[in-house]
Amino acid sequence: MARYVYDFTEGGRDMAGLLGGKGANLAEMTRLGLPVPQGFTITTEACRAFLDSGGEPPGMWEEVSSHLSAVEAAAGRMLGQPDDPLLLSVRSGARFSMPGMMETILDIGLNDESVLGLAKVSGSERFAWDSYRRLVQMFGTTVMGVDASHFERAIALLKDVRAVPDDVHLDAGDLAQLVETYKNLIHLETGEYFPQSPAEQLRRAVLAVFQSWNGERARLYRRREHIPDDLGTAVNVQRMVFGNLGPDSGSGVAFTRDPATGRPGLYGDYLPNAQGEDVVAGIRNTVPLDELGRLNPDAFARLRAHMETLERHYRDLCDIEFTVERGTLWMLQTRVGKRTAEAAFAIAAALADEGLITADDGLARVNGESLARLMFPRFDVSASGDPLAHGIPASPGAAVGAAVFDSAEAVRRAAAGEKVVLVRQETTPDDLPGMIAAQAVLTSRGGKTSHAAVVARGMGKVCVCGAEELSVDLGGRRFTTPDGTVVEEGTVVSVDGTAGAVYAGPVALVDSAVMRFLEDGRADEGAAGVVDGVARALRRADAVRRLEVRANADTPEDAARARRFGAQGIGLCRTEHMFLGDRRKLVEEMILARTDAERDRALAALLPLQREDFTRILEAMDGLPVTIRLLDPPLHEFLPDHTELAVRIASAEARGDLPDAHDVELLTAVNRMHEENPMLGLRGVRLGLVVPGLVAMQVRAIGEAVARRVLAGGDPRAEIMVPLVGDVRELRIVREEVQRVLGEVSETSGVALACPVGTMIELPRAALTAGRIAEEAEFFSFGTNDLTQTTWGFSRDDVEAEFFSAYLDKGVFPSSPFETLDREGVGRLVGIAVAEGRATRPGLKIGVCGEHGGDPDSVHFFHAAGLDYVSCSPFRVPVARLEAGRAAL
Ligand code: PEP
Ligand code: MG
Repeated sequence: MARYVYDFTEGGRDMAGLLGGKGANLAEMTRLGLPVPQGFTITTEACRAFLDSGGEPPGMWEEVSSHLSAVEAAAGRMLGQPDDPLLLSVRSGARFSMPGMMETILDIGLNDESVLGLAKVSGSERFAWDSYRRLVQMFGTTVMGVDASHFERAIALLKDVRAVPDDVHLDAGDLAQLVETYKNLIHLETGEYFPQSPAEQLRRAVLAVFQSWNGERARLYRRREHIPDDLGTAVNVQRMVFGNLGPDSGSGVAFTRDPATGRPGLYGDYLPNAQGEDVVAGIRNTVPLDELGRLNPDAFARLRAHMETLERHYRDLCDIEFTVERGTLWMLQTRVGKRTAEAAFAIAAALADEGLITADDGLARVNGESLARLMFPRFDVSASGDPLAHGIPASPGAAVGAAVFDSAEAVRRAAAGEKVVLVRQETTPDDLPGMIAAQAVLTSRGGKTSHAAVVARGMGKVCVCGAEELSVDLGGRRFTTPDGTVVEEGTVVSVDGTAGAVYAGPVALVDSAVMRFLEDGRADEGAAGVVDGVARALRRADAVRRLEVRANADTPEDAARARRFGAQGIGLCRTEHMFLGDRRKLVEEMILARTDAERDRALAALLPLQREDFTRILEAMDGLPVTIRLLDPPLHEFLPDHTELAVRIASAEARGDLPDAHDVELLTAVNRMHEENPMLGLRGVRLGLVVPGLVAMQVRAIGEAVARRVLAGGDPRAEIMVPLVGDVRELRIVREEVQRVLGEVSETSGVALACPVGTMIELPRAALTAGRIAEEAEFFSFGTNDLTQTTWGFSRDDVEAEFFSAYLDKGVFPSSPFETLDREGVGRLVGIAVAEGRATRPGLKIGVCGEHGGDPDSVHFFHAAGLDYVSCSPFRVPVARLEAGRAAL
């Protein structure tokens, strides 16, 4: 029979799948001999069994009871014992951290009797009644489903009656009265009484935590973070320790390094005379951790020692939650801490320097997504004027948007395309949709470890918290600064999450230090940590990766930038992009030409322009391969708009004018060429086979450009790529033409030309007949944009807006298949084409040049599929280098 419960002394960090992250780490700390209050973990397997069957798995409760007995024996008292109650906390803890998304219930074991016992043994009636009050409130909302606002109203009313500013000023009698009110509320709302039996409290609390896995907040968070829905949560049951027993008690959160910048040193927040939940909720403002050193030097020294133990043991930044109960330090949680992108790189480098981790470990701990984030610009503070207010820089980056004051408004405006900044006093898990919708989050209360800060950092969202100077008026939908400036909803503000400042209006942006370093190798002062981290990670990635990284570039400028970013060539030069702007006219003429003479004229005009383009690109990429793709214009992007022409003609006629003769002629031609589905129409190789002279013109331009570069002493390495091939015969015809033209150019220029000719694999038929196609192709490059389009039957141009959000919501796919390669379907075609292509032509060079070439997850797939290179937009080149390295670890 399955085993559902593990004591903290039985587990370990490698059991996170079964015990959840929190449970595994509590066990690990217990094993390390750190002071962890006793307890046990009910496994994720039990949760899954519960969610599947809707009932408690058989035998689970017996196991819980026997583990509870062990905790009771060690504590020397029983759960809820009337004269000296053992109290328990019941907390969720999934495999992946989901801060604040599931339920926690504290002080289990209190009832009308044991509250008196607790008052006596603790020596504080107020404390006992406050604990009971918290239990009834948490249990009432979480387990019994009473709306939280009822309890909030009741406590607010009592504070009004007593004319006190906050809970701390309510005395024992007030709190006892509140407990009565709460219990009545529960009865009124549910028809049930608050359970007095400690065992029943425990049992129902555990099941409520299981249930909270499927709560709306938790589901939304998982979707956002790509956490699978079927993992379930573990439940940790642990002896309560109290941080709210007076001035020699308190709770805090600490990091072994600064999670925002990665700088070494102890960082954190401490809240004297408070429970852990009060710190995270950001309800009261915390003091810096150093203050604990003053208040309680002994506990502080122990904390430092434990944190050092943890960082050395985990060989990484750890964050912990702790409580001091009457001078005694207790460790309540640890985990490898979340960090900003900047800190991730800086810490990986620092730990490698300290010899705690290897270069490969360092590389494994950073990722392409973080690198991409660091390449974004930041605010130009020299141009910003004075900030409206300062706060805590909780999650770095720069964001501009209209201030909004609740989650629903943020969602509403964002859906309409507006950029917004969510402003709150503090955030709660209910604000999650608004945080996702917003560019930035700004709060007036709470520290670096408040909900807003933790969640925003996890999402890579800009956040300034604890901006106390702001008075946030949620009802009035505005905030006021100390100098009396009023910012109403809808006003644009700029939030600097790196510096912790808020500005009125939009502030200009400056380039990122990481970007500057990637472009020209310079490291700005003040950014040395992160730049060193990025440099080190890329160095290691380049040393270990098997995949080459090329860029998709169509201009010499892009080619040069890509090269600075480390591209090892161009994997896709889209020649149709060279015909946008003024030159579009020439393409239009060429496609619509009615006579050979007209077409030849258009082609002759295009030839020198193309030659010049190719020459400059080959120069920028001298010595490296440049894959030039023959023309592949979806016709609708190149021909004049049919409706526009028709309207122009009709309005001329309506005015009684004679319509423009050219317009009429054009309309006839456009009508002739009109395609219902141009992405599947006369594109790619089809156009080359249908328009006489087109392939010859492009190949001549390439050949002449190569010859020129050779004669100028260069090392041009052009490769010619044929798009949208579905059958080997298409490729054969084009290839013969290519060879004929190159032969001619060789002869006239006196330069021997040998450009490899390859094909894109971007149609299922091409993938399925790759063995045949390889007879004619000297290389393959997967066009995964079209291959995704044609495999799924999704139109590239339409579907993302239409129904992808519904598909994502319903879990048909976790992310758009146009962003992250669909391994199961499209990936299977890739696998077939690689195997069959190489069976025909061993050593066939194979790359990918669709958008997926710069997507981290897809890069890992291409590595595993045995490709030789990925090609992506120049800005993604560093990301692809890094991920190609990580894939090879
Ligand atoms: C592709 O289809 O993946 C590709 C790279 O070609 P394009 O995006 O130009 O169609
Ligand atoms: Mg394509």
